Amino acid sequence: MNRAASSTGDVLADAFGRPLRSVRVSVTDRCNLRCQYCMPEDDYAWLPRETLLSFEEINALVGLLAECGVEKVRLTGGEPLLRRDLPTLIRLLRAQPSIHEVALTTNGVLLEEQAQALHDAGLQRVTVSLDTLRPDRFHALTKRDAFDRVLKGIERANAVGLRGLKIDTVVIKGFNDDELAALIEYGKTVNGEVRFIEYMDVGGANDWAGEKVVSMGDILARLERDCGPAAPLPERGSAPARRFQLADGVTFGIIPSTTTPFCAACDRSRLTADGFWYLCLYAKHGLDLREPLRMHDAEAVRERIRSGWRRRVDRGAEERKQLEFTHTRGRLIEIDELRQDPRLEMHARGG
Ligand code: SAM
Ligand code: SF4
Ligand code: SF4
Repeated sequence: MNRAASSTGDVLADAFGRPLRSVRVSVTDRCNLRCQYCMPEDDYAWLPRETLLSFEEINALVGLLAECGVEKVRLTGGEPLLRRDLPTLIRLLRAQPSIHEVALTTNGVLLEEQAQALHDAGLQRVTVSLDTLRPDRFHALTKRDAFDRVLKGIERANAVGLRGLKIDTVVIKGFNDDELAALIEYGKTVNGEVRFIEYMDVGGANDWAGEKVVSMGDILARLERDCGPAAPLPERGSAPARRFQLADGVTFGIIPSTTTPFCAACDRSRLTADGFWYLCLYAKHGLDLREPLRMHDAEAVRERIRSGWRRRVDRGAEERKQLEFTHTRGRLIEIDELRQDPRLEMHARGG
């Protein structure tokens, strides 16, 4: 039976007994890149500005989520560094005693100018998404000329002492799967651990096709061919990455979201920039926390969080994988549906 989280330390568990531990907060649905696997269109149905949560509102919701068990916050988007004064939000979150970790996932384009302020505000971990070391490929993938800025951003993050630097790479067959060893070499130069992510059919399943996925097994085989044996490291609780160590001590991760989903241990939730709480990356509907928050009804927010999490039966990636056996795996969400609900896209709910 599930028990509500309380000051006595009881754990709020979902229908499968999974605790609520983490929230990814999308601070904006806008982005300055157009990665083809995430946001290939130029224009989207954006969230109306007046619906966006203020930093105080985000902080208040995180506080209520923390009462229900959340201890880790990751700021994401869209591109989170497009949100003005992000360090102010980081300061607010760091002041919450129950929040043990405040992390950021960014595309790095604006990191060079913001790294110092993010560090000063107390950001504890930063992940920069970088899929290729070739400027021509970067442009083909993102439709923007920002490759040098991303590299400078990563260098600056390292130079100002931002800790826990990770480089996340979505591996796409025939596009960047010949760069895996080079990315690990690059990671060494900036003290960053590289994590290879299997291509997922999230959001509008942009351009996704099973043939484009490079599986964890294939990623590992390719790396062992190019870099020598990779020894598996012990798994860390609900962390999605499987980590490995090369003979020279360098570590890297693989996130096998598509071929080996980790739903069974998933303790993550997601908050959109306009205050809808999603219990799975693949969920079609979120719970509106903004409405009770703006009514100043904290108890109603708590109740929505508790009852929502207790009922949670989501295991989106596992269900998608099942479809392969029935050969019905197609687009996750149709274009018409996407136009009607901007929160269905990955960039609205954070990766
Ligand atoms: N804009 C920021 C960035 O790119 O780091 C944060 C938001 S982005 C949606 C978060 C992560 O989701 C990125 O690392 C991105 O590579 C990943 N992502 C987006 N679409 C994906 C897909 N179809 N498959 C796998 N990862 C994806
Ligand atoms: Fe790329 Fe991140 Fe922007 Fe998506 S949100 S288009 S992954 S930079
Ligand atoms: Fe968690 Fe949903 Fe991702 Fe599975 S698909 S790991 S339940 S967010």
